[in-house]
Amino acid sequence: MTVSLPDRRGRYGEFGGRFAPETLMPALLELESVFEEAWGDEAFVGEYHRILADFVGRPTPIYEASNLSKELGVRLLLKREDLNHTGAHKINNTIGHGLLAKRMGKPRIIAETGAGQHGVASATAAALLGLECEVFMGVKDIERQALNVYRMELLGTRVVPVSSGAGTLKDAVSEAMRSWVSTVNTTHYMIGSVVGPHPFPLIVREFQKVIGEELLSQMGEERPDVVVACVGGGSNAMGVFYPLIDSGIELIGVEAGGLGTETLAHGASLSLGRPGVLHGSMTYMLQDEEGQVREAHSISAGLDYPGVGPEHAYFKDKGLVRYETATDAEALDAFAWLSRKEGIIPALESAHALAWIRREAASLAGKTVVLNLSGRGDKDVQQVAALGV
Ligand SMILES: *Cc1c(COP(=O)(O)O)cnc(C)c1O
Repeated sequence: MTVSLPDRRGRYGEFGGRFAPETLMPALLELESVFEEAWGDEAFVGEYHRILADFVGRPTPIYEASNLSKELGVRLLLKREDLNHTGAHKINNTIGHGLLAKRMGKPRIIAETGAGQHGVASATAAALLGLECEVFMGVKDIERQALNVYRMELLGTRVVPVSSGAGTLKDAVSEAMRSWVSTVNTTHYMIGSVVGPHPFPLIVREFQKVIGEELLSQMGEERPDVVVACVGGGSNAMGVFYPLIDSGIELIGVEAGGLGTETLAHGASLSLGRPGVLHGSMTYMLQDEEGQVREAHSISAGLDYPGVGPEHAYFKDKGLVRYETATDAEALDAFAWLSRKEGIIPALESAHALAWIRREAASLAGKTVVLNLSGRGDKDVQQVAALGV
């Protein structure tokens, strides 16, 4: 691996780092050393992979989407993360964090959630592993996602309403971090993407890289020409890209273009943001002229975040991954298209990556393209129905 980052200070070039309050430093340092030890311990890694196999349902298949392939003139393969238990890649990460919490002897976990996806994955891991769990969620999201709130409660988790700011994901992350400061001795913070202060981006990458490792072994001698994934915080994309980063395969991350990149209503932190510090880490973020963080917009809650993992910022600047955008409207079209032509309803997040492939079909002609299908779309059906698609 030519990329052996982060360095000892948690930096990926100029990005990343540990911009956290003094009171959290001991916990971050403890987590760093516990993780390093655990990840080198065969028993820990074995337990993690056993749960991914028996409980989550890994390995996830690679499916040849023949109907779309014919239409596009591209050989399109889907890495089926939508078939994981709870319906997305997020559970790869929460199982790992749950095992870490147990190893540290911490009986309680906290997490943030936007639409509730990471909240449900956290609640599921907590139930399985016998941990107490609280999930911070913006009041606006609680209102919009009543079913996921109930699902978390059913799994034995307490949902904590966050009314600061806009009452959405960014505020839930801030509140979870604040709460962690005062409970750090008994509590582990299970972050939902490759974001936050070091060592979180590293840990989440390591728990998600199973996606790309599986892809390589499933394809055997064969190599795809292009791998495409959507980017919110960046964990599913990091999971599939990281093992391929120096393989020569073209890697494309697709961000939320929202109402259009010429407007301010999008979630394209890498494509249109500037470097700054958000949630403990130096990265690309959406900000106004004064450097204040701006609200993001996307039709898909999972991409509606004004920052992105610092390692993606590094990949962008080094030219290791190309970052593109797809709009709300394009994602909706792709959502309906995959449903009709292949019998697979994708998450709206994943539909952004498919929308990019569809738009670029002419330049991809004859190539083998892998789409990381990060999640299933059952959660989005009601929202899409209300839009009359
Ligand atoms: C949360 C989510 C995303 C976005 O998060 P990343 O960290 O960028 O992967 C994408 N797809 C699905 C299905 C999600 O639930």
